[in-house]
Amino acid sequence: MSFTRPELPDDVATDRGGKIVLLVADGLGGLPHPETGLSEMETARTPNLDAMATEGVTGLHVPIAPGITPGSGPAHVALFGYDPLRYEIGRGVLEALGIGFELGEGDVAVRVNFATVDADGRITDRRAGRIPTEKCTELAGRLDQIRLPGVEVFVRPVKEHRAVIVLRGKALEGGLNDTDPQATGVPPLTFTDVTREQEKTADLLSAFQGAAREILKDEPAANTLTMRGISTRPDIPTFAERFKVRAAAIAGYPMYRGVAGLVGMDVLPPAETPEALGSALAGAYDDYDFFFLHFKKTDSTGEDGDFDGKVRATELFDTVVPLVRAVGPDVLLVTGDHSTPAALASHSWHPVPVALLAASARRDAVTSFGEAACLAGGLGAIRATDLMPIMLAHAGRLAKLGA
Ligand code: ZN
Repeated sequence: MSFTRPELPDDVATDRGGKIVLLVADGLGGLPHPETGLSEMETARTPNLDAMATEGVTGLHVPIAPGITPGSGPAHVALFGYDPLRYEIGRGVLEALGIGFELGEGDVAVRVNFATVDADGRITDRRAGRIPTEKCTELAGRLDQIRLPGVEVFVRPVKEHRAVIVLRGKALEGGLNDTDPQATGVPPLTFTDVTREQEKTADLLSAFQGAAREILKDEPAANTLTMRGISTRPDIPTFAERFKVRAAAIAGYPMYRGVAGLVGMDVLPPAETPEALGSALAGAYDDYDFFFLHFKKTDSTGEDGDFDGKVRATELFDTVVPLVRAVGPDVLLVTGDHSTPAALASHSWHPVPVALLAASARRDAVTSFGEAACLAGGLGAIRATDLMPIMLAHAGRLAKLGA
């Protein structure tokens, strides 16, 4: 396997060495509060993270490239050491993997939104009033009965108004346009600019849409559906192949579980709270070399524009650190996948603080875990894709390159 931009030279990773924990707080980085000049991280009381910064080495990582605001999918692909511009993962694939659906090579996955249309077929609610997940499950079960010629059809519920369709068969293609018009007052879109290779898939999905509309027509809210992110899984070398580690993911949200599964990690049962993350790690610690732990609340509070809420979420995240250190990993790296400043109420391009703890870490003078402090850290400012080689090296898992 060769890489256009080698994140890690071939044949350097070995299958021996220490254990690694990558602890990710989603959307961790922030921006200063206008009154205090301190970011969410700098405002939060985080004794455990500060201790890590003091005892270890810190820095900042650039998730994708300078100035680029990442989605969480590509940002995690980068944290896992893969160039996210080379390995693009479609939304449908992410949703399918996120619910634990085992996508085969060539399967086409589609993210479905149940929606409401009026008597003229125009969308009045793109999310069908966010129907309860139980309703979504019932509807997906009915749509799962749809049969199409020459392919297998799977329909699975995700959450609220979201579901997944997977088509399995020969010569299927992704890359079709979304049928969600991203607006109300207009009907769902049809497929346009369909290539010869995509024709079969477009015909099948159009037939599915027709059959689904018939089944859903008497539903009060979810009387139609739209399709997004029509995609096949990228051909991606696994963690075991590239890094020679047995890896496990502990996360609560489907998408993160999905990305981890895509790179070949074993996806353990969902965990979201600090206690659940800690006990899942302790329970599986003997079975793996590498653990990815995901904490979501730092991102969702940032997205809500809730500065104080993000401060509290950061303080809660701080309590995960001693639970992880209790199992005694050889390498512990704490970071975020991207910044989600409450001031912007969205993801942003800003670099993200990193703290690394390992016996072989070269210490720096940083004693607190925050954006300004980590700028003076010994790791400097690096790309997210550099974090995997750095973790592996500190775990003693990388051989010398050449004689
Ligand atoms: Zn994220």
